[in-house]
Amino acid sequence: MTSAVDEGRRAVPSILRGQKALVTGANSGIGKATAIGLGRAGADVVVNYVSGGEAAEEVVEEIKSFGVRAYAYEADVSQEDQVVAMVARMVEEFGTIDIMVANAGLQRDAAITEMSVAQWQKVLDVNLTGQFLCAREAAKEFLRRGVVPEVSRSAGKIVCMSSVHQIIPWAGHVNYASSKGGVLMMMQTLAQELAPKGIRVNAVAPGAIRTPINRSAWDTPEAEADLLRLVPYRRVGDPEDIANAVTVLASDLLDYVVGTTIYVDGGMTLFPGFATGG
Ligand code: NAD
Repeated sequence: MTSAVDEGRRAVPSILRGQKALVTGANSGIGKATAIGLGRAGADVVVNYVSGGEAAEEVVEEIKSFGVRAYAYEADVSQEDQVVAMVARMVEEFGTIDIMVANAGLQRDAAITEMSVAQWQKVLDVNLTGQFLCAREAAKEFLRRGVVPEVSRSAGKIVCMSSVHQIIPWAGHVNYASSKGGVLMMMQTLAQELAPKGIRVNAVAPGAIRTPINRSAWDTPEAEADLLRLVPYRRVGDPEDIANAVTVLASDLLDYVVGTTIYVDGGMTLFPGFATGG
């Protein structure tokens, strides 16, 4: 007898068969769902984490259940030497990299008058410099290897995990919103620079997704109701909503999509306050 989950797994086409993917911050939330989604679609996956090795191993086991390869790798994406070593190890282990999902991110919220340089810097280091380092190391390998037509039409894909806050200002979170605004321009600039070499760089911008990063925004009925006023589609997103977008974006189904952000936000970027006012 097969379960609904098994049926679901079988229904997912292997659109990433033979591809090698790395997902940063992949032992929690969106990164976890994305690593699992890429594995389900046929990719071999490196599960990066900075702490919480056990959770990372659980993700690895789930990915392996799809009959693909996976391993966990501890690295802080804001540290150059650790990112360089992580990608070098992947090339040793899997032969190459086809998909880099620069997902790791964090918040250190404070009003501007209370925000320390350490809070500002930490968020910029992880959310922006971390994505820069991951994109740079992946791009080097994409350029070394070039296009392998049996694997993919492109020489490689970089998916930046951004946020609706790459365009929506967010009071009390100037470090986070600035980091994501930076991700938008970094993504577009890298896309322009690397597209002639056959590399596709794009972003996915989640709205409100149910993960540990924003638990206080959805973990009581009052908080959730408040949050949903900002979401025209009136549901909080699931990590799998983001994983599905990344999976298709990284596949040849979207091979002509270059330098774009896919908003996966239940309409949060539609200025919902104007539905009844303005
Ligand atoms: P999460 O806290 O569940 O996951 C973040 C992951 O990043 C964790 O695994 C964490 O350990 C990892 N991480 C943090 N610092 C790291 C470092 N220095 N090196 C390596 N990994 C590190 O939160 P999430 O919601 O899954 O967030 C994932 C991404 O999605 C982030 O970039 C976040 O900004 C973005 N995002 C989330 C939402 C949302 O509503 N949850 C909305 C918009 C954007």
